[in-house]
Amino acid sequence: MIIVLFGPPGSGKGTQAKLLAERYGVPHISTGDILRENIKNETELGLKAKTYMDKGELVPDDVLIGLIKDRLSQSDGASGFLLDGYPRTLPQAETLSKILSELGKSLDVVLNIDVPAEKLLNRLAGRRMCVCGASYHISFNKPKQAGICDLCGSKLYHRDDDKEEAIMNRLDVYKNQTQPLIDHYTQAGVMLTINGAADIVVVFNEICRMLDDFGHV
Ligand code: ADP
Ligand code: AMP
Repeated sequence: MIIVLFGPPGSGKGTQAKLLAERYGVPHISTGDILRENIKNETELGLKAKTYMDKGELVPDDVLIGLIKDRLSQSDGASGFLLDGYPRTLPQAETLSKILSELGKSLDVVLNIDVPAEKLLNRLAGRRMCVCGASYHISFNKPKQAGICDLCGSKLYHRDDDKEEAIMNRLDVYKNQTQPLIDHYTQAGVMLTINGAADIVVVFNEICRMLDDFGHV
């Protein structure tokens, strides 16, 4: 099953995708994670992307297109995948549908994680990340030892784009460029909306219930 996790920055896409990937045994493909990996490895693509990401702007499509095509074509996604952070614009939605049709696949569900705007700033400002990919929150999803990853023991860090100015820009970008996709996918009949304001486990159980009702993953 091919699922897009959709929602504003901080709605819980990455958090839920990690839990769903474990439960259903499908890869979690996050364009943000792939871009951050490229920045860490100082690739040409990473250097291009960084200037946009630090300001909270979208990385241009010509930088992303090769990356997304390659990743979706890999064999670990043969029986499905969870796409997190892509598409974010109407042209990206069209690109995705083209790539999937070239691969003989189609999108099954877009899970829209609905969270009131006033909660997002707090969620993003309190997010702490680990180089191993794990993510925490200083109040809502605390590591056992403050500032240290439960999984690998590394020191947690605060994303540059999780500082207030970049957050405000990202929320604007979401509203202007990404939110219109809700109508697009609703019209396509693939949109499922979840209340993402509840606790992480409650949201996860609700998503699993909806997916199990919808059909096998
Ligand atoms: P996204 O991938 O949509 O940007 P994340 O999954 O990284 O969002 O979540 C953003 C922050 O909010 C993280 O610090 C995460 O631990 C926290 N978080 C995620 N889901 C919830 C929730 N349901 N309730 C409270 N905090 C949450
Ligand atoms: P995320 O980890 O999903 O919050 O993404 C972090 C940042 O990576 C975004 O603010 C963008 O700068 C960039 N990014 C991730 N996915 C995309 C995308 N689909 N289109 C453009 N930029 C993206």
